[in-house]
Amino acid sequence: MSHGSHFADFAVVGGGIAGVTCAQQLCFLNTGKSVTLISAAPVLKVVADVLKITRNIEEFTVRESSATALESQFPNLKVHNARVDAWTPDKKRLHLSSGMSLDYGKLCICTGATPTREFQAPGILVIRDTETVDDLREKLSGADEIAIIGNGGIATELVHKVQDCRIHWLIRNKSIGSTFVDSGAAHFFLESQSLAAREAEPDKSCPIYKRMRYTVTDRGEKMVDFGTALGPDWAEQNELRGHSPNKKLTIEYSCDIKTVEYDEETRKYVIALSSGKRIVVDIVLAATGVTPNPGCFSNSLELAPDGGIAVNEKFETSLSDTYAAGDVCSLENSEALWLQMRLWTQARQMGDSAARAMSGPEHLIPPYFEVFTHATHFFGFKVVLIGLFNGQGLGGEYEILLRTTANVEYIKLILKDGRMKGAILIGDTDLEEVIENLHYSQLDLTDLKENLLDPNIDLEDYFD
Ligand code: FAD
Repeated sequence: MSHGSHFADFAVVGGGIAGVTCAQQLCFLNTGKSVTLISAAPVLKVVADVLKITRNIEEFTVRESSATALESQFPNLKVHNARVDAWTPDKKRLHLSSGMSLDYGKLCICTGATPTREFQAPGILVIRDTETVDDLREKLSGADEIAIIGNGGIATELVHKVQDCRIHWLIRNKSIGSTFVDSGAAHFFLESQSLAAREAEPDKSCPIYKRMRYTVTDRGEKMVDFGTALGPDWAEQNELRGHSPNKKLTIEYSCDIKTVEYDEETRKYVIALSSGKRIVVDIVLAATGVTPNPGCFSNSLELAPDGGIAVNEKFETSLSDTYAAGDVCSLENSEALWLQMRLWTQARQMGDSAARAMSGPEHLIPPYFEVFTHATHFFGFKVVLIGLFNGQGLGGEYEILLRTTANVEYIKLILKDGRMKGAILIGDTDLEEVIENLHYSQLDLTDLKENLLDPNIDLEDYFD
């Protein structure tokens, strides 16, 4: 594309899952209109092989695509590899780093989120995206001891994946993985790990599920800000091995980190905890959450308290003809059983929904945002989370039904007033469909709850 001014009926900013899905859906629904996708990252993330487990729970792979490959799929699509540096909303104009400006009819902002940086010591690995799984692997190969800070999905996955070194896992909470699972499930994972170790079972391998890429900040240099966040299928081709013959995991619970410092002489990091304990390691990996990245769009739009661009259920922002989707947005949603967690499925669903809303009222948005769902793998187990899976917002006033078998399954159902409000399903439970349906139907289960988790009762049959 040459410099100067251009026009597109629809402009989408961001080449992550949300932006690409939005652009694809816009092209599909508006064949006679022009769509321009602008992405600072040269590699686009395209969702492929969507497999529906249930109505709303899905698995897919994320492929990397070039601009040309994506353009070849839709005659009305143009992809421009540049950063949006400035925005003139009253003129509906974007100013790009390439020198070009683009006028548009409707705009969707999908600029993602960036990892939160809590510690400033040079060389801390902040897990993000492109480029350097290789760097991480390389650094790990010379490391005997590492520290992983954070208790979300990424940290949990890394603790499982990294082999052959001593890992200090530093978490603020009282149990592991607490962004996603409760302490019972955490116990299940740890018990399963030690059982597996005792029986010398081979490491349970994840099916291709997540793609994780990293940008390593070297000596405190600024990390790449505009990379595309991770998609779902990382670790398979990427062995992450340290330098020690064995893996040893130490978890520091309820841990408050005072400082992280780099000692040039020993080339080690010294982590001081407020308990007085000091931990010395070769590598520090920080995975402590993300902050929405509205960039130059933040000045003219209403932001939510978490810094995301505030959107309604049609993904409209506070300005007309301006939409936002994916990690960058904060969705105000009155549905009681849904919560935003900035996950890849949500990025896809939001990109799809924004495109439908931008295309006209005849394009209805599917019921993605009525009940929260997420499928992932932790410690090699399939994990499906539905609704208020940790009793979020229920004020502790709920009943729990639990069935667990070490190293096999962990099933937790949350009921309030006899109705299904949330569930954690770990292992091959085959209960996803029926439990998801019970969230949608809000059937009164008061008389059935004694039997709900009876392994001899086939719930699918029962509710057929
Ligand atoms: P992104 O993928 O971040 O894309 C943003 C895009 O905007 C990029 O292409 C960027 O180049 C572009 N951009 C930004 N600013 C500009 C600008 N000014 N001009 C032009 N382009 C711009 N989710 C899961 O469900 N499961 C997981 O296991 C999982 N693991 C994760 C691990 C990590 C380390 C991280 C960081 C996230 C993980 N997530 C996971 C979350 C998931 O990756 C994100 O929710 C999802 O990818 C967000 O997609 P997005 O399109 O909204 O944003």
